[in-house]
Amino acid sequence: MERKPTRAVRIGKVQVGAGAPIVVQSMCATKTTDIDATVAQVHQLDKAGAGVVRIAVDNPKEAAALKEIRAQTTATLSVDLQENYKMAELVAPYVDKIRYNPGHLHHIEKSKTIQQKVAWIVDIARVHDVALRIGVNCGSVAPAFLDKYPGDQMEALIQSTLYHCQLMEDLGYDRFVVSMKDSDPDKVIEANARFAKVRPDVPIHLGVTEAGLPPDGIIKSRLAFEKLLADGIGDTLRVSLTLPNDKKHEEVTAGFQIIEDVEAGRFVSVPNFGKGMNIISCPSCSRVENEKFVELAQQVKEMTTYAKDHKITIAVMGCRVNGPGETDDADLGLWCGPTTVNLKKKSVKVGNFGYDVVLGRLRKELDALIAERA
Ligand code: SF4
Repeated sequence: MERKPTRAVRIGKVQVGAGAPIVVQSMCATKTTDIDATVAQVHQLDKAGAGVVRIAVDNPKEAAALKEIRAQTTATLSVDLQENYKMAELVAPYVDKIRYNPGHLHHIEKSKTIQQKVAWIVDIARVHDVALRIGVNCGSVAPAFLDKYPGDQMEALIQSTLYHCQLMEDLGYDRFVVSMKDSDPDKVIEANARFAKVRPDVPIHLGVTEAGLPPDGIIKSRLAFEKLLADGIGDTLRVSLTLPNDKKHEEVTAGFQIIEDVEAGRFVSVPNFGKGMNIISCPSCSRVENEKFVELAQQVKEMTTYAKDHKITIAVMGCRVNGPGETDDADLGLWCGPTTVNLKKKSVKVGNFGYDVVLGRLRKELDALIAERA
């Protein structure tokens, strides 16, 4: 594979970019406060070959757990910041990389500018010798960019990413990578290819969000990664799969398999893939609100087999952090709460239903949608 000549970015003991081997990443799905389980999963992923292991940390209690986890492993660790970017201060001493989402920076401290917030994150990164990832998702592009490019989410996503690269560079900081993710492989290809044309020097982390259960989730990621890697784009990647905790390492093996196949010139051909029912589901993480989530995703897949030829997207998400936003574009969406599941039709809420009845209610909505379109 002829790779784009990106610059080198050090993440702990791992080098990304500048021709270094492509780094395969993964993320823990255990409760972060369950230190033993999380350390065990870090080891499970590290042993499978994950170059960087991400952990969800959203509050001081989880940051305290992270400190303990750090003390028990030498794996390269990263954390993603959600709506409270100030968590950077609490996690930075214990990780090698922090990912922030430019689409989440406006949520708190509204009197501060985006430039001030990024400058603060960069200061923290410098002090603690931490690399950064600018992680943009189609489902959560910064409102300012959506307003600037009305009706063109792709342009908004790319411009937001370019803007944050510039902000960092204006601060004299270039120890960062970027990611532009969506659940649609074609959009992932377009976003990354267009970005790489403008900034071939910036290392890129590849990912298809909410790819879902294997084997479809692997195929979706593969469709995007094959095209991009073959064009020399991508220095690090993650295959996000909805898997039970004891199989989480399969994300890593799937990632290596794709790289190996592209290197050997083996490409998949799935002529009708994506033409019918599309189930997207998140890979789950510490934030998952009910352990029944993975089982629910599996049940949705099985229940909807009867409608497999209909071009309908159903999203199944594990929590309230990304659930409400990331289900907006799906025809039908489910996102999990602690005791009930929220059912949506596009961005409109249908209601909250118990885990034991939500499948029947989803079936009713699906039948109605099929009848509407007939
Ligand atoms: S939707 Fe929630 S549970 Fe699922 S991966 Fe995203 S943050 Fe984690």
